[in-house]
Amino acid sequence: MSSCCVPSTYGILSKSMSKSSKLWDDAKELLPGGVNSPVRSGNVVGIQPPIIVRANGAHIYDVDGNRYIDLVNSWGALILGHRPLTVMNAVRRQLRKGTSYGATSTLEIELAKRIREAVPSMEKMRMVSSGTEATMSAIRLARGFTKRKKIIKFDGCYHGHADSLLVEAGSGDLIGLPYNDAAKFEEVAMKNASDIAAVIVEPIAANMGIVLPRPGFLENLREVTQKVGAVLIFDEIITGFRLRYGGVQDQFGIKPDLTCLGKIVGGGFPFAVYGGRGDIMDRLAPIGPVYQAGTLSGNPVAVAASLATLEVLRNRDGLYEELETHGRALQNILEKEAKSAGFSIVVNRAGSMLTPFFTNAPVFDYSSAKRSNVEKFARFYRAMIEEGISIPPSPFEAFFLSRAHDRSVIGRIGKAIAKSMEKMVQS
Ligand code: PMP
Repeated sequence: MSSCCVPSTYGILSKSMSKSSKLWDDAKELLPGGVNSPVRSGNVVGIQPPIIVRANGAHIYDVDGNRYIDLVNSWGALILGHRPLTVMNAVRRQLRKGTSYGATSTLEIELAKRIREAVPSMEKMRMVSSGTEATMSAIRLARGFTKRKKIIKFDGCYHGHADSLLVEAGSGDLIGLPYNDAAKFEEVAMKNASDIAAVIVEPIAANMGIVLPRPGFLENLREVTQKVGAVLIFDEIITGFRLRYGGVQDQFGIKPDLTCLGKIVGGGFPFAVYGGRGDIMDRLAPIGPVYQAGTLSGNPVAVAASLATLEVLRNRDGLYEELETHGRALQNILEKEAKSAGFSIVVNRAGSMLTPFFTNAPVFDYSSAKRSNVEKFARFYRAMIEEGISIPPSPFEAFFLSRAHDRSVIGRIGKAIAKSMEKMVQS
């Protein structure tokens, strides 16, 4: 969720966006920056965002009737695309039974079983309503469990907007370290050995653009946290169920103490969950002293959507292989078209999520990500939206594919990329 530069004026698109323009003025008067979440504003790419009225499958539609292929997919939440039939049916069925109970429901028990089966390190879990709530609560729980205060996080990773996690450089009880630097981590962790409550990490980072962990980095986190008695938290809010049924922890065979899931596990609804070792989770109220609660926690509509989504992900043979194939195809197209247009580009990818960085050097941490040319990305963004493709309006985010992005959609994206790069050369 990093943003780097904020042009003061908005560009005008040649697409007809008269209704969006008018509504954008209202939005700015009513909502700070015109948005309910900052990255949506388009200020990084210098463009007024289209105002959205509906979505279906791989597409999203604005108020002027323009259709876009959606590569944002609710920031990774919609792995089945917009309005997948089975999820919509489950939600409709649940609506007939109630929208909120304020008590434990059969659905929550069923979902907890399903999640533990997919992510066995989550022996016990607590359902909440947003990713921020999950990470914030996991941190508080880790502090309560260890009776220590300090947290280590990695620069460029995003874990929600709780005060204690938003500081970029180290300050007070938060220590910020470079991603992928195992030696530095070990040195700092050992120096603060008796003070560190938790180490929180995106096991594949997606909030500085996609950055993959170097071999040994995650293993080192596990080893050292065990040595110093700190809680290891994997923030799998983006990666959970994105790359396989389960998480990165399954892929790498590493068992964190706590895990946060959100986005995909919510089936497109406000839902997240954190969980892990039973002895840690049992420190939560009402059986332990760490208080954490929520009026809409485990909301039955969201839980019904979650169950329906996980059902598809678990049972649909070849789904993740298909997503991998389409992700690889999109990476190849970006690399080929950038090369023929004469742009240096590095595409970092994990399965169906990827980031094209306009740079010629490898991107392995926040400093190297920041070398990506923001102005070039902004031109690329503007050309792509003109071509009817909605990519994230920031160079430090990920493009996400869904099941609805089939071969023909990838083909259309490919043509738009070729045209956009051509346009960038001419402008
Ligand atoms: N952790 C990660 C890895 C995220 O990507 C996000 C959101 N992009 C969050 C936490 C916060 O989640 P939410 O926006 O639902 O509060």
